[in-house]
Amino acid sequence: MENDQDLELENMPDEEAPTYSFVEEKEKESKQSGRKKKKKKADPEKAAAEQRAKRRAEKREAEKRARRERIGSIIITAVVILILLVIVLLIRGRGKNKAAAESRGTGSAQTVQEAGNGSAGETAGAVSAETGNTANGTGQSVSGTGQEGTGQAETPGTGDTAAAVDRSSFAVDPAKTDWNFDTEGGEKTVYLTFDDGPSYLTPAVLDVLDQYGVKATFFVTGQNPEYYDYIGDAFRRGHTIGLHTYSHEYEQIYASVDAYYEDLGRIGGIVEEQIGFVPCFIRFPGGASNTISAHYMQGIMSILSEDVVARGYQYWDWNNSVADGSTVTVEEVCANAVKVEPNTMVLLMHDGNGKDTTWEALPGVIELLRDMGYTFKALDRNAPVVHHSVLN
Ligand SMILES: [Zn+2]
Repeated sequence: MENDQDLELENMPDEEAPTYSFVEEKEKESKQSGRKKKKKKADPEKAAAEQRAKRRAEKREAEKRARRERIGSIIITAVVILILLVIVLLIRGRGKNKAAAESRGTGSAQTVQEAGNGSAGETAGAVSAETGNTANGTGQSVSGTGQEGTGQAETPGTGDTAAAVDRSSFAVDPAKTDWNFDTEGGEKTVYLTFDDGPSYLTPAVLDVLDQYGVKATFFVTGQNPEYYDYIGDAFRRGHTIGLHTYSHEYEQIYASVDAYYEDLGRIGGIVEEQIGFVPCFIRFPGGASNTISAHYMQGIMSILSEDVVARGYQYWDWNNSVADGSTVTVEEVCANAVKVEPNTMVLLMHDGNGKDTTWEALPGVIELLRDMGYTFKALDRNAPVVHHSVLN
């Protein structure tokens, strides 16, 4: 091809002939393109070097960043661990202080504790009244919440059991802080408390109580929706309604503080529908002394026992039990009801499903206690607060 073009050029007239040959042009082009190629060749190398340098710089920067992030996360982890340690130490310290305060505070009074044997009911024959040096030698339990000496001026009312009480004031009220922990009053008072209802037994229990003109307290659960109406019935017949928890399932309610309050809120809502307000009276399943909860959360009772009070609730344990958590006979229920004789008795009983024996024994229990000089009352804000030792 090149040869043909050369020939053509040679045959062209002189004046019209180009001042340069195609060969020269090609050479020029070739030189130029060579230069261009050289130029092109030089730039990529430089760019590549720059790229490599840039990549190295970026890598170094990324490594620096990663190092900084690693150090940051190590510091954050260390701080979190430190905070958790401080919290654990504080909680433990508080528990120890509380135990110390209890052993100081209870002094001559006796503390009644539940054995926490993991049975379904709270009682299971577990209440043991230690002998002590109180005047009457009975199992009175005084709280160790450190409130001794504050607000003990209040004494249980002197009216009879039928005395009208302003129940609207029973609603949750965080302002109520002067709880009465003095159980050493001169008169003998018994607070019958029924846990785990309402059930099919509740109406029969209410009838016996009416028959004797006795007012009592019901710590209710949400396990039998078909009987919720009995909560309202009991309230209208002059009894006190307290909250026991909705599910009564230890592994649920004691899984966490939030889980407990979620459950408590649920039963509070159910009771509110029945009586118009959320009662401040509560009873922990298993009592505040239960150790079952430790299987689900260490220290939860130490937290809850103080926190519920801070939220305007008050919890009641018991200082005597008919021990109907397990199967007992009518005779055993009666005998258990009077096995101790504290001036202020908070007696644990059950009106849950299957507690027929308790209902059958109820007239006998009431007569025995009445003959011992006890006055029957429903819990109210002035009732002495009976607390167990907190063991978890
Ligand atoms: Zn219970």
